[in-house]
Amino acid sequence: MAIRNIRMLGDAVLTKKCREVKEMTGKLQTLIDDMFETMYEQNGVGLAAPQVGVLKRIVVIDTGEEGEQVVLINPVIEQRDGEQRGYEGCLSLPGKSGIVTRPEHVVVRALNEDMEEFVLEASDLLARAICHECDHLEGIMYTSLVEGRLYDNSELQEQEEEEEEA
Ligand code: ZN
Repeated sequence: MAIRNIRMLGDAVLTKKCREVKEMTGKLQTLIDDMFETMYEQNGVGLAAPQVGVLKRIVVIDTGEEGEQVVLINPVIEQRDGEQRGYEGCLSLPGKSGIVTRPEHVVVRALNEDMEEFVLEASDLLARAICHECDHLEGIMYTSLVEGRLYDNSELQEQEEEEEEA
């Protein structure tokens, strides 16, 4: 396994639509392993293949809540219900956050690493992560969905500390 170079906002690769995966190969399996390692190294909860420069419809997620690694290949969000409004960040724009409204609950159909179809129901943070990562596959960064402005994470930490003190 290896840490891959994460592409930053402004890199053209992040604006491109990704291609479907037709078959699992050793190369793609290594890519998936590397994506997890790269994501964990940066303390992220999700990473999409274009963020490491590969225009394929592959997403990895680990929200740490159920200790479960999620691999989504060719994901399609089939249902969106409810609404959640909250801060979102991205490994392609480190140190920043912005408020994005996402569905509270999603149903996603995808293939696993064995190219077997499965359906995943998700809510809260996992639903948010699925939406965020699937957007990457369409070349969409969360920054185009942010309500208001982007915040520096240090700014938000100060806010939180002030609230705790108050
Ligand atoms: Zn992202």
